[in-house]
Amino acid sequence: MEPVANPKQAVLFIGGLGRSGSTLIERLLNEYPQTFAIGESVHIWERGLRDDELCGCGDTFSQCAFWSEVGREAFGDWSEIDVSQVIDQRWDIDRSRRLPQMIKAHRSGIIPSDHKDYLELIGSILVAAGQVAKRQTGASIVLDSSKHLSSAALYSLDDRLDVRVLHVIRDPRGVAYSSTKVVDRPEARGGDMEQMPTYSPARTAARWVTDNTGFAQLERLGVPTLRLRYEDFLTDPLGSLASVATFAGIDPPELPDGVFDGSTGVLATPMHSAAGNPMRFGSANVTLRLDDAWRSKMPAKDRRLVSAITAGTRTLFGY
Ligand SMILES: [Zn+2]
Repeated sequence: MEPVANPKQAVLFIGGLGRSGSTLIERLLNEYPQTFAIGESVHIWERGLRDDELCGCGDTFSQCAFWSEVGREAFGDWSEIDVSQVIDQRWDIDRSRRLPQMIKAHRSGIIPSDHKDYLELIGSILVAAGQVAKRQTGASIVLDSSKHLSSAALYSLDDRLDVRVLHVIRDPRGVAYSSTKVVDRPEARGGDMEQMPTYSPARTAARWVTDNTGFAQLERLGVPTLRLRYEDFLTDPLGSLASVATFAGIDPPELPDGVFDGSTGVLATPMHSAAGNPMRFGSANVTLRLDDAWRSKMPAKDRRLVSAITAGTRTLFGY
């Protein structure tokens, strides 16, 4: 018997702080025929629609066949969108400071009208992306790597979507150390952000605490959540991927043959990601390697600071 089709668009949302290994996990998940990676939808208005940056497929956003069709499907045409207005809405609504209202909405089921207005737009993109993906590749699950806690809290209020959160977490000292390192963004085209932002260890540590406890709170509010520690993923990558696939409803949960043997692989499925980590471009030969440079290279005072700020929370997540 055929399973009953889920009337909601399935979205696997990758949540957590940047520099936590999530891009590699996203690329591996994109190799499942059932998934379709769209990158970080939270940034689509600015980096895609306004700045016409490069999509993961190599075309500019305006020339990408996938995103052009998504615009037609969602709005008739992208030109129907008032870009500067929607960017203002996104910066007003999809923000950490709005989390108390979103949490209240999860509890009461009543969504404030300004949240609803923005959700109507971004949710329509996710629904349309799912429809276009299904037509183009047969994929049924939209893979969104926005990562922000506020985006996860907001999107999961949309009753057109079946949002499941993959909460990726990494030792805060590793995140803080990586966050001080400069990485180029090849997709920026003369804009003002040619490199990924860097953050001080104290700022990263504070965000590590608020974001990770926030994802745990979202889970308690009933948002389906699977927590994946970066370090556990590297210890058992194939087992971890199978757990994520099962959580996302992917059947069978194994990657197709020949993609990735648990340590090396060739990730060749293009990603139509409108924003994200520089690693998303082109076909990639990957070799898994635990990045624990922080253990030997992180300045002792930074390490003490991050350890102190995260002390109360770290143990909750086994660090
Ligand atoms: Zn594209």
